[in-house]
Parts: sequence; structure tokens; C-alpha cells
Amino acid sequence: MNTQLRRTVIAGNWKMNKTPSETTAFIKELAPCVADATCDVVCCVPYVCLQNAIEAAKGTNIKIGAQNIHFEPKGAYTGEIAADMLNDLGVEYVIIGHSERRQYFAETDETCNKKVLAALAAGLKVILCVGEHKEQRLQGVTNELVGMQTKIALQNVKAEDLKNVIIAYEPVWAIGTGLTATAEQADETNGAVRAAVADVYGKDVAETVTIQYGGSMNAGNADELLAKYHVDGGLIGGASLKVPDFTSIVKSASK
Ligand code: PEP
Repeated sequence: MNTQLRRTVIAGNWKMNKTPSETTAFIKELAPCVADATCDVVCCVPYVCLQNAIEAAKGTNIKIGAQNIHFEPKGAYTGEIAADMLNDLGVEYVIIGHSERRQYFAETDETCNKKVLAALAAGLKVILCVGEHKEQRLQGVTNELVGMQTKIALQNVKAEDLKNVIIAYEPVWAIGTGLTATAEQADETNGAVRAAVADVYGKDVAETVTIQYGGSMNAGNADELLAKYHVDGGLIGGASLKVPDFTSIVKSASK
């Protein structure tokens, strides 16, 4: 982390877990535990839990995010949710391009780009996910790949809008598997993401962009990962579902 240059952000990705009433109870329990955090704390919850989460988080330092949007502003897209709808509800963040969306819902770098532009236009903050599969790491193309994913997803994003973009480097082989990138791998790959941002926007701008690591981050490994220069926080799946575990990661990021 470099807290002089950029915000540290710890975000939970609940995926398809917790009901609306469980959400209310969780946020109320979490709020006092993270009240003195010096990093930003975000919970990205299922759509149907957003209202409860926003209500429960009022008056606290917890921000609420969604896990996806459609890129069109409105229309005949049964079952989809537009960025403006989330903004109107009081949602602040949205995850875009999570590997599970790429894998199970055929999202591509191009659709991620459309979603990033739609989210920013609606005033949402974006958590853009990039990351390689195991074969790609073994083939030695990780840095090129995350650089390409980053550049395509950020096409036509203005430099002044980058303050509303967080990038989460999430090696696909480390998500939900218990396998974690080493702190060195996370730092190197986050650095490659930053270099890709610098190619397009210049080094000074790139140094201000928050780049998280995600992939089995937990209470036991957060200290080591977050100590690295290019690791400005975490996108947390499994460990964000339990108050003590998530609190512990927030505390690591607040040191
Ligand atoms: C994620 O879903 O973004 C994630 C990193 O999950 P986990 O922490 O469970 O690996």
C-alpha cells in the first residue's frame, strides 16, 4: 500500500450469499467493528439485499456496492439492472468483470468496457476485475494479459474519471480455492496493471489508482499481501461473509 498516493479499499464480494434480513443483521454487527478503519470499507451484496444494506449502513463508514450491471440505460433486457437504478437506490460501487461473470455469463473485455462506461456515466464507482487462468500463468503471459484486459476495459474512460475506478487483480486460480498468489506475485502483477494504466494515462495518474488483490485473501495472509507497494486493498469473497474475518482484514489495511 502507499497510503500517501492512493486510497486503500477493502471490499467484500458476497456473491450469491445472504438474504435481505441476514444482510441487515450482518451490516449492523460489522459497523462498530470497522468504525475506526482508515481504509474504505465496502460490501458488495446481491441486488435484493441492496436496500437493506443501504439502510443498515446509514450513519456508518460502510459503503454499499452491487456485483454487476447491464450496460444499457434501459430497455427490453428481462432480468437485468441498469446503473441509474443502482445510483437512485443509493448504491456507490459496482463490481465489473468478475471472473465468475466472465466464466458463467460470457462477459468479455468488450462488455466490461461498456459496463465501466455506463457505471461511470451514472455516477457509480467501479471495481474492475482482471486476472489470469492457471494455464496463462504457467505460459508466462500473466502481465501481458492483465495489461490487455485493463486497457480494453478502460477504452474511452477519461483520465478524470479514473478517480472512480478501482482495479482488482484476481488470479482466477486463487478465487475460492484457498490458493493465494504469493505477496511477490500479487505485487508484481498489480505493478503490471499499474504499468498498463501508465501506458495510457501516464505514470502520475497511474500512481493514484487503487489496485486491489483478490483471491483467497483472509485474516492470516492479509498483512503480508497488503504490505506490498502495489497492493492497495483487497476484494474478498469467502472471508467477507464472517464479521470477525472481514474485520481482521480491515484492521490489517488500517495499520
Ligand atoms: C472474489 O470472489 O472476488 C474472491 C476473491 O473470492 P475469495 O476471496 O473467496 O477467493
